[in-house]
Amino acid sequence: MAQILDGKTLRDEIEKDLKSKIQNLKTKPKLVIIQIGDVAESNTYIGQKVKFGEKIGAIVTHKKLPEDIPEHELIEQIQLANEDKNVNGIIVQLPIPQSVNKEKIIDTISPEKDVDGQTAISIKSLVDGLPTFIPATTKGVLTLLGKNKIELSGKHAVVVGRSTLVGKPTALALLNRDATVTIAHAKTQNLQEITKSADILIVAVGKPKMITRDFVSENQVVVDVGINVINGKLIGDVDFDEVSKIVAAISPVPGGVGPMTVASLFQNLMDAYKRQEN
Ligand code: NDP
Repeated sequence: MAQILDGKTLRDEIEKDLKSKIQNLKTKPKLVIIQIGDVAESNTYIGQKVKFGEKIGAIVTHKKLPEDIPEHELIEQIQLANEDKNVNGIIVQLPIPQSVNKEKIIDTISPEKDVDGQTAISIKSLVDGLPTFIPATTKGVLTLLGKNKIELSGKHAVVVGRSTLVGKPTALALLNRDATVTIAHAKTQNLQEITKSADILIVAVGKPKMITRDFVSENQVVVDVGINVINGKLIGDVDFDEVSKIVAAISPVPGGVGPMTVASLFQNLMDAYKRQEN
């Protein structure tokens, strides 16, 4: 049986650490979450963020805006938060409606408050390997690997999925930590051969149990980013029951990357707070 990369326990440790740090602060770190529309999954994710924020003593404001909000009003809302000295971090919950110019909206967020690492400036810093806010899911994956003492330098990391939100930033972050990185996607040929050749396999596709025993080999570390809801149950992109019998280490769903994502966002918020205080 593989070693379990337990994101829940690690999330609880991060929660404790942030809580004790925030207790000693005169002013509390504040996060503004801007939601456009009413996507059910976003409501769930935002609920988790609000709950975590409450637990650690941060202030979280959730602004839910109508799907048909005029662009200039949306920009105004972000600018208000940019200018507010009491606000340390701003996120625009993704996905946002197709009618909204995503790049323009995200790039309105002031880079020093971009705690989800989605602005062009943050992404450019990630490309350049400079210090920046690493997108929360990617940061969660890195912390999960780091805390479990999984070496990245010189290892072959295969990332399945190339989205701007998860796949690409994760591949870049692994490259910045000296892994040799392969990015696979829907048009990749011989996917099984490629995934089998990985030392570290990161899967962010959104297809339940797509990675079966035929895609993995012994001694691998497998990180499952996928979240699929089937009959009200959370299922990963990796067939945990089959794959955990073969590989060396694996993150479960639920209880792996998901909890780490929320905790990582608030680590970024704390970093933003400290930088702004200085
Ligand atoms: P996207 O739909 O934006 O991207 C999916 C990627 O998977 C695309 O690059 C696509 O390739 C690739 N893909 C699709 N089918 C295949 C296939 N058969 N073989 C290889 N690659 C394939 O999803 P996200 O990146 O936003 O999310 C991925 C998963 O991670 C989802 O389940 C999502 O719910 C979850 N997620 C989890 C988070 C967490 O905190 N744990 C946070 C964010 C997301 P192509 O580009 O060629 O179309």
